Formats: sequence, structure tokens, C-alpha cells
Amino acid sequence: MGQPHILIVEDEEPLTVMLRYNFEAEGYDVESVARGDEAELRLRERLPDLLVLDWMLPGLSGIELCRRLRTRAETATLPILMLTARGEEDERIRGLATGADDYVVKPFSVPELMARVKALLRRAKPEAVSPVLRAGDLELDRETFRVRRGGREVHLGPTEFRLLEFLMKTPGRVFSREQLLNGVWGHDVYVDERTVDVHIGRLRRALNRGRSRDPIRTVRGAGYAFNEQFESA
Ligand code: CA
Repeated sequence: MGQPHILIVEDEEPLTVMLRYNFEAEGYDVESVARGDEAELRLRERLPDLLVLDWMLPGLSGIELCRRLRTRAETATLPILMLTARGEEDERIRGLATGADDYVVKPFSVPELMARVKALLRRAKPEAVSPVLRAGDLELDRETFRVRRGGREVHLGPTEFRLLEFLMKTPGRVFSREQLLNGVWGHDVYVDERTVDVHIGRLRRALNRGRSRDPIRTVRGAGYAFNEQFESA
């Protein structure tokens, strides 16, 4: 399960920049377009997990786009959060009648918007925003920083925790040592690639104590992955 993908359709650039910044800080994968007709084309190529849609747009209005999306099977249940301007009371009501799931009125508070987005995502895709990642008998809680295997707590150092979290977010995907360094240690830190092997070793010892199934897969010449077969353990 990757991070939620959000498409922003908004023609006020400063607002788009601000939304993008906040969504990215939340770990979402963000894309944006400034025109309604452009959004319609983009939605045929790639379906997001949620659409943030401005009411007044060049090309095609938000309300018309919303109406069209609801008539197509692929987008009939796509979560849509509408952005409307103050004083558009009637239009707001029409917005919901046309199929938007929720709306916020500009100027809105960012925490409120984030909360609504999270609520919509949770409703549509509970696993995407859950603080707990699960696979087989393994459980990682991103809020309490606790890891359990078979119900028993596993004690990990902060680096091993981040490494496991990073791998668990995308089961099956193979990451090179360089990708792991960038994703877990950050781009600005100079660490030798062998450091990754050292921490993978520590992570494995902590996770596998007395157990035969290893959730981490070594891919020769490539790197490491979270073993997707582990899910069905
Ligand atoms: Ca607008």
C-alpha cells in the first residue's frame, strides 16, 4: 500500500502551492492541474485516491466536472472535496447535490481541510491512513513507535524502526542500498552503503529471534524488500 495520491484542481497558484506543501508534509503523493478540462483528461489517465476540486475553474467548471465524474463508473465513488468561495451558499448546496462528498469554504483553515481529507480517505480506503502497518504476525504502529510480532513487543533502535516502516509501506518493492539511504537516512547525510547492511542485520536479528520466517528479503545485486509472501503467514 503506497501513500494516498491526491489530485488538486485549482487555478489560484498560491493556494495550490500551499495545499501541495501541506499534503506532501503529510506524506501524500500530490499532483495538480489548473484547468477543469485538463483535470478531466488527467483523470482518464490516472485515478487519484482523492480529488480536491475548486468550484470556479477555467476550461470546465468544478461543478460540471464533478457531475461528469459521477456518471462514469470508474469515478462514481471517487472521494471529492470541493473548494468554494464565501457567499456561494446556494452553490455549495448544489455542489453536494451534484456529488461532491464534502466542501470547505475559502478562506479555509489548513488543519480543518486536512482533517476533512483524512476523514474522506479513511472512509474510502481505511488502510491508507491507519497509523498501524500490518503484515502476517507483524505490526508496526507509527504513532506509538511500537513493533510487535506475534503479539510480543520487538525492541528496535530508531534507525531500524524507520527502515522497517519504509520497507513495510511498499511490500514487494525492491529498494537499492542507495534508495534506502535516501529514504531512511535522508539525502544530506553521508553514510556508507554498507551501513544499510549493518542495520538490516540488526533489524533481522530483532525481528526473527527464535522464528524461521524472515519478513525481509535480500535480492542479490539489487537490495532489500519487504517480503510480500509474508502477508499470508
Ligand atoms: Ca478558482
